[in-house]
Amino acid sequence: MTIHQQDIRAQRETGTQVPAQWPGRGPQAAAPPAQPAARPAPAPNPVPVPLPPRTGHRVRVYKQDPSVTELGARLAFIPTVVLNGPADARVRIECPGVTPVARNVSGDFVFDPGTPEFDCAHTFAVVRQAMALFERHNGGEPIPFAWNTGGNTDPISVFPHAATGANAFYSRTAQALKFMFFTPEGVPDASVVHTCRSFDIVAHETGHALLDGLKPGWLSAGNPPQTGGLHESFGDLTAIFLALAQPDQADALVALTKANLHDKSFLADVAEEFGKALGMPAGLRNADNDLKLSEVGNEVHAISQVFTGAVYDVLADVFAFELNRQLRTKDPALVLIETASALCGLVFEAFVASPATGARYADVANEMLRISADRGDPAIHRTFIRNRFAVREITTAVTPLDDLMSGQMRMADAGYTGDGRDVTEVGPFDDRSASLRAEQDRSRCCGTMQMPEYELVSPAKLAEGGALEDDDILREDLEALRRAFSK
Ligand SMILES: [Zn+2]
Ligand SMILES: [Zn+2]
Repeated sequence: MTIHQQDIRAQRETGTQVPAQWPGRGPQAAAPPAQPAARPAPAPNPVPVPLPPRTGHRVRVYKQDPSVTELGARLAFIPTVVLNGPADARVRIECPGVTPVARNVSGDFVFDPGTPEFDCAHTFAVVRQAMALFERHNGGEPIPFAWNTGGNTDPISVFPHAATGANAFYSRTAQALKFMFFTPEGVPDASVVHTCRSFDIVAHETGHALLDGLKPGWLSAGNPPQTGGLHESFGDLTAIFLALAQPDQADALVALTKANLHDKSFLADVAEEFGKALGMPAGLRNADNDLKLSEVGNEVHAISQVFTGAVYDVLADVFAFELNRQLRTKDPALVLIETASALCGLVFEAFVASPATGARYADVANEMLRISADRGDPAIHRTFIRNRFAVREITTAVTPLDDLMSGQMRMADAGYTGDGRDVTEVGPFDDRSASLRAEQDRSRCCGTMQMPEYELVSPAKLAEGGALEDDDILREDLEALRRAFSK
């Protein structure tokens, strides 16, 4: 109510004129109308307010996992339609005896951590968020699962409590993500570790499923070890980029590390609780590593760490440069969110643009350089990419590394290239590397990489996409039997 309305009401109620007292107002403005207020009050005509989309649900989730207490469990908002299950057109949670889990009267999935209902809601939310992350970089278009060919729209089934075991996996034949649970051995009073409660593990496995839709030939063990490394690395990068797409995680990280991504943090530590249960204090994997290709042989998990580490270093470099450039105009957490989003988009597009089978790290690095130049990033961004891949012996050092190695790089110079040349094509450092020539050793990879369907089916067959049957896995055995039985 304004002062003026108050005046008029006072007149109506008492019949006496009450002068408005409003400091600073001139006598003219303060003077009440001379006529008696006989006119009826105008009919109320409320101004309509813009409404958000009519869908959307709150879900309580772990922001990292139960062991990362800085972040804990929080509410997340899923802006799309979610049915009881939780389920939507693309993702369905399956937990016998528990699902379908019902929404509350507000349409939300809010449960106590530690309950099976929480696990169902949490797992759904993280899978959904990981899909949304890459759909944003895919121009808002949905990313098909490998079996979504020829009009097939089958969703992926997600099992938060699939079985006992210290593992998790994505299977094309089962059209499913399966998360297992286990009790750590040799640890007194150990409680059960559920892999589905780890944001990093759920994001990692969802990354495998999405990449299998984008590059269906890559999961086959018939590719060079580097192609397998790209799959494992994509999973870990999904966990890292998804965390940095969430403002609360980015803000917490900047404060925790004082904006130094090379400080120890929950970001570089992937799958913390799982790792600790297996006696690895820095989580199952550490993205902020210093491994070179010459140090990892043909062991695919270690090979993947080399690629993840290179991208992580590029992220830290670009963030340091952009923070310096934008410190006076933007909040550091916002600079981190934008930097990570731009790099995530670059990596995503580079993976998509790489060969359908036999992709090498140098292929992806070259696509990153080309796309970065095409979209007009400052030249120093490409210098970071060239340098980090060269230092890890992935690619040749086409421009000199002297400034980087002596700590003399001009980090504030957007045009810095090393020698004035903005090179966008590099070659593999060592053509004869085991990571390119040997058989894939997948013994230390996640469950996905150890599925027989990817160990036994050829890259060319997998690259066709579409559903995969058990017969595809057993093809060679079946043909041998057919030959034997027809003699
Ligand atoms: Zn983590
Ligand atoms: Zn994996």
